[in-house]
Amino acid sequence: MSTRSGLPVQMGIGMVLGIVVGAMAPTFNLDAGWFKPLGDLFITLVRMVVVPLVFTTLVAGAASVCDVKELGRVASKTILYYLLTTTAAVIIGLVLANLLRPGLGLTLSMENLQVRDVSAPPLIKVLMDIVPLNPIDALAKGNMLQVIFFAMLFGFALSMLGDRGRPAFVFFDSCAEVMIKVTGIVMHYAPIGVFGLMAFTVANHGLSVLLPLIKLVGVMYLACILQIMLVYLPCARMSGLTPPVFLKGLSEPLMIAFSTCSSAAALSSNLLSVQKLGASRSVSSFSIPLGNTINMDGAAIFAAEVYGISMPVDKQLTVILLAVLASIGSMGVPGAALIMITMVFTQVGIPLEAIALVAGVDRVMDMARTSINVLGDAAGAVLVSRLENNGECRE
Ligand code: ASP
Repeated sequence: MSTRSGLPVQMGIGMVLGIVVGAMAPTFNLDAGWFKPLGDLFITLVRMVVVPLVFTTLVAGAASVCDVKELGRVASKTILYYLLTTTAAVIIGLVLANLLRPGLGLTLSMENLQVRDVSAPPLIKVLMDIVPLNPIDALAKGNMLQVIFFAMLFGFALSMLGDRGRPAFVFFDSCAEVMIKVTGIVMHYAPIGVFGLMAFTVANHGLSVLLPLIKLVGVMYLACILQIMLVYLPCARMSGLTPPVFLKGLSEPLMIAFSTCSSAAALSSNLLSVQKLGASRSVSSFSIPLGNTINMDGAAIFAAEVYGISMPVDKQLTVILLAVLASIGSMGVPGAALIMITMVFTQVGIPLEAIALVAGVDRVMDMARTSINVLGDAAGAVLVSRLENNGECRE
């Protein structure tokens, strides 16, 4: 137990050491590639636990819900929270982009840019795809929306069966416990993984890459801080959590997000952390994986900033819509928002210079947006749990 509570500290040490070693790598002729396997192994380990953990906790969570109305309430409050907070994120991103003009004075270049003309699938197809043809295939491919859909249906059917569903409930509940344990074991590797990731990133994206675009990056970080202070911390307060308790409770998933740039990698840790902060299992096992897929406030801020650079003010209503869509469409993997933005730019015929501009520093911006993506889901889980009064009817 003591090692587990010391884990965030160990991860913090790993992070600082990684930054120091990464910064010294060029001086000592160390190849950045040496650190990569350490980080890659960590990402694989944490992603390995996601599907079984989400499936079992969601089945057990949905089975604990008293009635279908409660499920509907949780779903609508969660989705409303996602829409409102994402809109707030876009507005913050846009206001800062307009006020501080982070792109001004930069030489635009198209270097290193490979753009493919991809078209987004129609909305009806996106909605139809939530229902899996084969649930096992959905699990195998890690298609999160399909996994959520099937697990909720399964858990709910289980609860409708009453006593006859009891053995299956006990089984899934116990499997969920096992997966929580597995996650705990895997997390022991986190300090080394975080070290490897930070060393690799810093060695690859030294200050020389960062300095010319420091304003762009600074505005992104400022927008993220505002989003935390104006949106998430008040939500946490409404859930009865003070800012230090809320942020400390989430230090583990935040460090994973920051170092891996993948909110999918931080999912399991986020799920367990919000439960420790008091979020109910039925709410969090639904809202965290769903938010991981569709609620990307960091991506929305980023999209607003980048669109804000390249679009005149009178067109910025479109920006809001595009940024929200970009955030919903992005996946929880590194660089996803950049790819998404490229896609939208190509479609609406905006010149791609702004993308080339940010591509060089995307990793550093991704660190902030992934952390925000994760924090946004966590604030939603504690808030909706609070609004639902943690009502679960099965033990
Ligand atoms: N890397 C982000 C995440 O995993 C997605 C993005 O904003 O590019 O949440």
